[in-house]
Amino acid sequence: MNAAAAIASLLFTKKACILVTHIHPDGDALGSVLGMASYLRERGASVLCYLEEPVPPVYRFLPGSESIICDLDQVETFAREHGGDLLTLCLDCGDYRRLGKSGTRLMMLRPFVVVDHHQGNRGFGDMSWIEPGRSSTGEMIYDLLMEQGEPLSCNTAECLFTSILTDTGGFRYEGTTEHTFAVAGELVRYGALPAKISENLYDSSTFGRLQLMQDVLSTLTVHEKGAVAVIRVTREMLDRSNTVMSDTENLVNLPRSVHSVIVAVLLKELEEGVVSVSLRAKGGCDVSEVAAAFGGGGHRNASGFRATGVTLDEVLDKLLPVLRSKVQH
Ligand code: 5GP
Ligand code: MN
Repeated sequence: MNAAAAIASLLFTKKACILVTHIHPDGDALGSVLGMASYLRERGASVLCYLEEPVPPVYRFLPGSESIICDLDQVETFAREHGGDLLTLCLDCGDYRRLGKSGTRLMMLRPFVVVDHHQGNRGFGDMSWIEPGRSSTGEMIYDLLMEQGEPLSCNTAECLFTSILTDTGGFRYEGTTEHTFAVAGELVRYGALPAKISENLYDSSTFGRLQLMQDVLSTLTVHEKGAVAVIRVTREMLDRSNTVMSDTENLVNLPRSVHSVIVAVLLKELEEGVVSVSLRAKGGCDVSEVAAAFGGGGHRNASGFRATGVTLDEVLDKLLPVLRSKVQH
């Protein structure tokens, strides 16, 4: 039996499921968790979705997002109540450290099963199904559910479509295959509305976010003859524009959109001395290796890492020489 079939045969015999994903969840993380949650709930299972922090506002249109809880004690109580009937499913998380502060406690809620598409994910937990070639975890969930031979509800379809749309950058990134389009088409057939989902994701911003973009773009620096472009966001910019860190999602694509740019970098000041770095590359340039060298990970063209006890400038000083070797031919 392959990994997907083994996971399906275990999952669909359980009466209760806890769904978890990586910290600072994106559209694929939340779409996968909520798509799976709605599918299981519609079939009578007890489902609990856990996040360390509240759902970012942009994803609150997703059906079921209001039911996500941030209380780990409640998750453990739920697990005790369901005992052997329980399975914990960890979706779109490439590394156990990306489960955040609650990681160790979550992984004790066994069996702990991983479904993911991150390059470099060597598997963790009790069982894992990992396919780095996939556009998104949502696409994998679709295949897993289809094996059950039943139609999907509109809610499930909407969540999984969001996964695919966001993780492919609107069907633009590598990893977008014929199968990705076929799945997206099927999800529309099941009731997902691309225009409505896109409006929620991309045309529901605030003026604060526009001001943040202005501030962030004013920090642009260009290196390596235009092959590397760096922007940064500080706590002060967020305060000034009344925005939150999740409002910076996709801003790194602005410098990446320049023709000469091979690698775009966004440096984020999460808190005093804690820096998160987003790397976006084009074509054959593999920035997952760069992120891994700094203790992070991700995909070939989209990766990231975190550094503590450092300033934005110090991180950049260490990062630029590594990127130089990546963009020189
Ligand atoms: P983002 O730049 O949007 O935060 O992340 C881009 C990609 O890199 C995502 O696939 C994410 O999973 C991965 N990533 C970002 N930060 C980290 C990190 O600190 N550790 C690991 N392992 N992966 C990361
Ligand atoms: Mn993903």
